[in-house]
Amino acid sequence: DITEQLSDQRNAAWSDIARRIAHEIRNPLTPIQLAAERLQRRFGGEVESDKETFERLTGTIVRQVGDLRRMVDEFSNFARMPKPVFREENVHDIAKHALFLHEVAHPALKFTLQPAEGCFAMVCDRQQLSQALTNVVKNAVEAIESRRNRGEHSLAGDRIDLKVSEEGGQLVIEVLDTGVGLPEERERLTEPYMTTRVRGTGLGLAIVKKIVEEHQGEIGFHDRPGGGTRVRIAFDTDKLSRLLSEPGSDNDRAPQD
Ligand code: ADP
Repeated sequence: DITEQLSDQRNAAWSDIARRIAHEIRNPLTPIQLAAERLQRRFGGEVESDKETFERLTGTIVRQVGDLRRMVDEFSNFARMPKPVFREENVHDIAKHALFLHEVAHPALKFTLQPAEGCFAMVCDRQQLSQALTNVVKNAVEAIESRRNRGEHSLAGDRIDLKVSEEGGQLVIEVLDTGVGLPEERERLTEPYMTTRVRGTGLGLAIVKKIVEEHQGEIGFHDRPGGGTRVRIAFDTDKLSRLLSEPGSDNDRAPQD
């Protein structure tokens, strides 16, 4: 219908602008970064008294540029997101992998997956589902770090628990953390640019929402008794299979083994 068409047009225009901005920002970043890195190497240790100042300044350039680059990458990923390509996958496997990447990066945090082993079949785009879970777990890690930065600690110890389950035609993934808890703007968490972080882009959950919806799923954010957040993603797997098997669904583009 017309509203849908308008919103498609708006999204397309928006994607185009986003792509251009990303391009324009990315271009000057490489020379800045290379120049700063060369300065750092070339003059880093020559004049003893200036050394500290010099390292501080060049360090700032390198860090800031790195931050910008990460933001731009996230931004252009959002703008570019392709249509999902559906295949049957084991969601438990995807969850395990997403968790593993964070586990390696944060050895001081406790991560669990429940059940420890399992097979939860769902037709999905593996790469996109993996990105969605990664974003949600990343937020959980950041929520715990924010709490620690405030000098607070969870009594029972900081942890991130991921649960996969089936509940009557739905495949449910939950991510529980012991972090700061949800901000006041909880209704707007999945809007693009909604962030409470200094270096946030506010795109992480916008991407998650888009992916979840393309998979006939819903996402909800809940407070946990005792603090922290529970994110619940529920996929209507029956509906998704039905849609994909309809004639005219473009799942015939999916490569099959
Ligand atoms: P960003 O991480 O760049 O801020 P997101 O879209 O991923 O963007 O998240 C939006 C906001 O949602 C965050 O800034 C944070 O305030 C809130 N949020 C998301 N996940 C959690 C969580 N597990 N605990 C507390 N707040 C969260």
